[in-house]
Amino acid sequence: MRIDKLLANSGFGSRKEVKQILKQGQVTVNGVVIKQPKEHVKPESDRIEVLGETLVYQEFVYFMMNKPPGVVSATEDMRDETVIDLLEPTDQVTSPFPVGRLDKDTEGLLLITNDGKLAHQLLSPKKDVGKCYYAKIDGKVTEEDIEVFKAGVVLDDGYKTKPAELMIISSDDVSEIELVISEGKFHQVKRMFEAVGKQVTYLKRLRMGSLPLDPSLDLGEYRPLTEVELAYLK
Ligand code: URA
Repeated sequence: MRIDKLLANSGFGSRKEVKQILKQGQVTVNGVVIKQPKEHVKPESDRIEVLGETLVYQEFVYFMMNKPPGVVSATEDMRDETVIDLLEPTDQVTSPFPVGRLDKDTEGLLLITNDGKLAHQLLSPKKDVGKCYYAKIDGKVTEEDIEVFKAGVVLDDGYKTKPAELMIISSDDVSEIELVISEGKFHQVKRMFEAVGKQVTYLKRLRMGSLPLDPSLDLGEYRPLTEVELAYLK
């Protein structure tokens, strides 16, 4: 990898800024000063020091975000702020992207990574990764809905959903529920409730597989996954 690209990807500034650091003789590779931006290095094995500090190379990044409402789960958008815009600039340089989508008005657990293989695994229907949501529903959710969801609901486009686990927390004019689904069809939770004549008024993802949302993250906050959390997902 070119040294200027590596330094820019590691958060040392733009390509132009990195070129300056190199020009000033502030970068050594295995003890030798290098000044040429196009010099190639092996980030996994070379000892690279920048401004007196050893560079710790990380190919992949993994973040957990508590997605706030009002931002879109995309890398860029013409109109709206994206979840990637909420990352610190130094965390944006490795080209991370959200794993799957939450609607603009949905909150909660969103994974952000640049590891395409892991993202693919988590989204693959074969993997059957359960996603747990908390929702407020306009209308009384019933025992019958539990059975219907277990058997599979026919959505507006004729698709029959896989068995889903619905748990009623409270049931009144406004109900509170938790729902575990193993698929990720467009607006799936909202459309499942529409299919039984009810409307989701608030939606939050609580868990993906065995990875729960860190309750200490406020809306819009994020943090790297721990090694243990990452192991849950792999
Ligand atoms: N189901 C929905 O309807 N919306 C989401 O954002 C996620 C699941």
